[in-house]
Amino acid sequence: MFKALLITKNESAQSVAVTDIDESQLPEAAVTVKVEYSTINFKDGLAITGKSPVVRKFPMVPGIDFAGVVESSSSDKFKAGDRVVLNGWGVGEGHWGGLAQKARVNAEWLIKLPEAFSAKQAMAIGTAGYTAALCVEALVAHGVKPEAGEILVTGATGGVGSVAIALLAKRGYKVVASSGKAGEADYLKSLGAADIVDRNTLSAAGKPLQKERWAGVVDCVGSHTLANACAQTRYGGFVAACGLAQGMDFPASVAPFILRGVSLLGIDSVMAPLAVREKAWARLASDLDASKLESISTLVGLGGAIQAGQDIVAGKIRGRVVVDVNA
Ligand code: NDP
Repeated sequence: MFKALLITKNESAQSVAVTDIDESQLPEAAVTVKVEYSTINFKDGLAITGKSPVVRKFPMVPGIDFAGVVESSSSDKFKAGDRVVLNGWGVGEGHWGGLAQKARVNAEWLIKLPEAFSAKQAMAIGTAGYTAALCVEALVAHGVKPEAGEILVTGATGGVGSVAIALLAKRGYKVVASSGKAGEADYLKSLGAADIVDRNTLSAAGKPLQKERWAGVVDCVGSHTLANACAQTRYGGFVAACGLAQGMDFPASVAPFILRGVSLLGIDSVMAPLAVREKAWARLASDLDASKLESISTLVGLGGAIQAGQDIVAGKIRGRVVVDVNA
């Protein structure tokens, strides 16, 4: 038996609880992992609260990521004792996920845990931090250099935003953090933000073209915020869009794209190919100061993950929540 968060659903509602599960109920797959840590990402919050239909079948163990040790493997890619990390691939949505003491997954979904990180540190990064790395890699790959000008990061105190600020600052970019949490200015500056803007300046409908400011953008928020970020991006700039914390809509015009040559870069972490993942994790290993991870993250046990899921959807979380599934 092992403990897991289990989401069940009847005709009218879903419920979630820490449940004892027999190992024989694990889904069929090649690699059984003894999970050490998981995390609460925004999508896990949506799954736990049922606010959006991210869970595609029930009962479901949520948790889109985990880090741990291989217990057994019928794949030659991994052997017992290997330290591994998993992000995405529909785990915690259509396949039982990481908010559990055990998980059984396809070998192709796992990568080796980078030596730079413990399992706990890897989950302090989690899918949010790995997505931040994908956003930064996308800006760098498109030639956005620190001397090009300021980089806007929206949803700045969130998981993606916090790690994006730290990675960008480490590479020498001047980062401007957009946040709704006025009391977190010191936190954002400690991560490397040079300046902070109130998110209310970006969150309402704005003009199709506005004063040019940003050389690049990492947007975690979508909706009007993304539209305004595009409208304020400088000629030839790049906007990496990864999130929808404000909304999934994109009430924008084509003006920034066709009159200023602005490019919108879509960022997906879930189905990203292995080589892209490994590059992002290598970048995290080389650029992310481990002491920053301490200030970014808080720790809860498996039971605490339910409240944390509610809090992240309510926008109350700062940084990252790590879940010790054995506590
Ligand atoms: P968090 O909840 O940790 O952070 C989101 C942040 O957005 C909040 O901390 C808050 O920051 C801001 N925010 C919240 N609500 C609103 C609102 N109504 N209007 C404007 N800003 C708001 O989530 P994550 O950082 O984990 O994820 C960020 C987004 O990225 C989510 O939408 C998530 O689904 C998405 N995502 C996408 C991935 C992909 O593969 N494309 C992978 C991982 C995440 P503040 O208070 O500082 O303003």
